[in-house]
Amino acid sequence: MKLDTICVQTGYEPKNGEARVLPIYQSTTYKYSSTQEVGDLFDLKSDGFFYTRLANPTCEAPEKKLAALEGGVGCMMTASGQSASLIAILNIAGAGDHILCAATVYGGTFNLFNVTLRKVGIDFTFVDPNAPIEELRREIRPNTKAVFGESVANPALVVLDIEKFAALAHENGIPLIVDNTFPTPINCRPIEWGADIVVHSTSKYLDGHAVALGGAIIDSGRFDWAASGKFPEFTTPDESYHGIVYTEHFGSAAFIAKARVQMMRDLGAAPAPMNGFLLNMGMETLHLRMERHCANALAVAKYLEANENVEWVEFPGLESSRYHALAQKYMPGGSCGVISFAVKGGRDKAVKFMDSLKLAAIVVHVADLRTSVLHPASSTHRQLSEEQLVECGVHPGQIRMSVGIEDVEDIIADLEQAFRKIQ
Ligand SMILES: *Cc1c(COP(=O)(O)O)cnc(C)c1O
Repeated sequence: MKLDTICVQTGYEPKNGEARVLPIYQSTTYKYSSTQEVGDLFDLKSDGFFYTRLANPTCEAPEKKLAALEGGVGCMMTASGQSASLIAILNIAGAGDHILCAATVYGGTFNLFNVTLRKVGIDFTFVDPNAPIEELRREIRPNTKAVFGESVANPALVVLDIEKFAALAHENGIPLIVDNTFPTPINCRPIEWGADIVVHSTSKYLDGHAVALGGAIIDSGRFDWAASGKFPEFTTPDESYHGIVYTEHFGSAAFIAKARVQMMRDLGAAPAPMNGFLLNMGMETLHLRMERHCANALAVAKYLEANENVEWVEFPGLESSRYHALAQKYMPGGSCGVISFAVKGGRDKAVKFMDSLKLAAIVVHVADLRTSVLHPASSTHRQLSEEQLVECGVHPGQIRMSVGIEDVEDIIADLEQAFRKIQ
C-alpha cells in the first residue's frame, strides 16, 4: 500500500460486527481463563496483552501504522519523545559506553544525553553533522555503540546526510539512530537510506493537533546484532527473562522486542491508551496535513526572504538554503512546516515582532496545525550557554516559526502587520 493509504487504513482492522473506529481500551489489564495461559505470556511463549505498561490494543494500532509508514519490522509507542530517545539509547548502551551524536539535535535531547545520561556513565561526543566523514571517523571509539542524528534538526533545520552517517555507523559495526520527528515518514524514510532505528516525538506532526504527548521507536530489523559482536546483551541470555537470547528468540525484531520486554518493563514510560487513540486519529490525516504544511511554509519562507526587515531565513525548501541539495535528495516532496529566521535588530526586535503577531501564537510547541512562533534562545534552549547555543545552531535573535495549515494569505498578512509595528 502507498503511504497515504497506510495513514488511513493500517493498524486497526475490525472484524465482523466490531467498532469501525479504533476503540479505546481503557484497561490496565487483561483477563485469561487459566494460570497456564498467563504463565506462557510471561515466558513469551505466546502472544497477547497482559499489562498496559507493556502493550495495549489501542496503542498497538498506531504502532503498526507507524512501523508500516517507516518501513520497519516493529514499533513501540512511549509516553513522550524524550522517553523514546532514552529507551533507544539505553537498549544498546550502558555505563562505559559512548555515543556519537550530531550537535544540532533538539535541546531536550541534548540535555538528556549531555547531562542525565552522562550521570549514568554513558559518554557522548557531539559533532558537526556537516563535517566530512574522515573527520567524523576520528570521533569513533572502540566503545562507541551508536550514532545519533535528526533527519531535520529542531530548530536548526539542518538536514542530516543520512547516508554519510549510516556509512560511518556501519563501517564500525554499530547502528544509526535517526530522530525523524520533523519530516515524518511522509516526507523522509530514513530506513531507506540506511538508518537502523528511527525515533519520533509523536507530539508533533504525527499527532498534529497538539493534543497528546507521545514518542515512538521503530526498528528497521536490518541491523545484525549478532554479526556486530558489540552487543552481548542481544546475543547472550537475559537472566531477568528466564535466559532468553533476543536475537535467537525474536530474530530481526530483536531490538524492538528487547526495548519492550526489558526496557519498558523496567522504565515504565508507557503511553496512555487515550493518547494511542489520539495519535492514531491524527495520523489518519498526516499525509494531507504535511502537504499543506510544506506548501504554506515554502510560500512564507519566500515571503520572508524577500522582506527587507529580515536578516536571514533558513528553510530547506528554499534554493538559497545550505541544505537545499540534501533536502532534495532525502525529502524531495518537502521537509516540514518549520522555518527559522531572524528579524533585523537582534533579540529585542525579534521579541517585539513576536509580541505583535495576532494569528501566529506564541507557544512552546511546534508542528501542529495552528501557526505558532517561538524564541528558542529564551525558551526551549534557555538552559544552554551562549556557546552551546551556537554549537547547536541557535542564534539569539532567531525565531522558530511553525507554519500551520490555515490559508497562507492570512498567515502572511499577520506577518506583514507585525513587521509594520516594529518599523
Ligand atoms: C519535541 C521533540 C522531542 C521531544 O519530544 P517530547 O514528545 O516533547 O518529549 C525530541 N526530538 C525532537 C526532534 C523534537 O522536536
